[in-house]
Amino acid sequence: MASHPIVVGNWKMNLNSKQTGELIMSVKKEASKHSSVSVIVAPSFTYLDSVGKILKGSKVQLAGQNMFWESEGAYTGEISAPMLMESGCSHVIIGHSERRKYLRETDHMIHRKMVQALECGLVPIVCIGETFEQRQQGIKDLVVMQQLQAIFGGLIPTEKQNIVIAYEPIWAVGTGQACDPNEARETIQVLKHALIDMYQEHVVQQNFVALYGGSVDHTTITQYVDGDIINGVLVGGASTRLDSMLGMIRAVDT
Ligand code: PEP
Repeated sequence: MASHPIVVGNWKMNLNSKQTGELIMSVKKEASKHSSVSVIVAPSFTYLDSVGKILKGSKVQLAGQNMFWESEGAYTGEISAPMLMESGCSHVIIGHSERRKYLRETDHMIHRKMVQALECGLVPIVCIGETFEQRQQGIKDLVVMQQLQAIFGGLIPTEKQNIVIAYEPIWAVGTGQACDPNEARETIQVLKHALIDMYQEHVVQQNFVALYGGSVDHTTITQYVDGDIINGVLVGGASTRLDSMLGMIRAVDT
């Protein structure tokens, strides 16, 4: 999938209504000056509608931070892909490590969510990554490949179904301790080769892009985004800070 540099801001459970409104107005304005950068923001569910309205007609895209694997029904507290789309979402983050950690999300649940997102026409941003201990044990590549196989097993994307893989080493998320860019690149190559084993090379090229996520900000973003192996970044903390978020959009404009 040919791609501009991608900056995804995951605002997690941060920013109130006023802060969200102020930040999105500035992001929208900055993004309009950088047409070669794809900007995607994921605010809290309660602000999706209002942010979606602000973004109408703009090139900034909207993402949910999570979704459920059914379209409707008795699933208290969950939100569906059609609901996200109604609010203006084009993307959805799936399998974030915080959800795996605090809510015990499994690869199987992530697989079901991803299939549902694709069926409904959302682009899933699928998070994959190892823990610090797994990295120390030297099993990082094995762990990320196993996650990939468990999540993507049985899926054959159609021509129009785009998928974003976000390599997010768990030890780098929200810690201020980013992964070395070359190591991130190597791991993403491992993931891309595993995808090529599952699908064909042209399918991977056509349907997939890869992001790195984990303690990136405006001062480090260009070390990661190379337009070839790493197509963009998924950013938490720094994306909620105005200077950093706008600085990242500017930094990757070529
Ligand atoms: C994230 O939440 O996906 C993330 C990468 O967070 P941070 O940038 O704060 O490490």
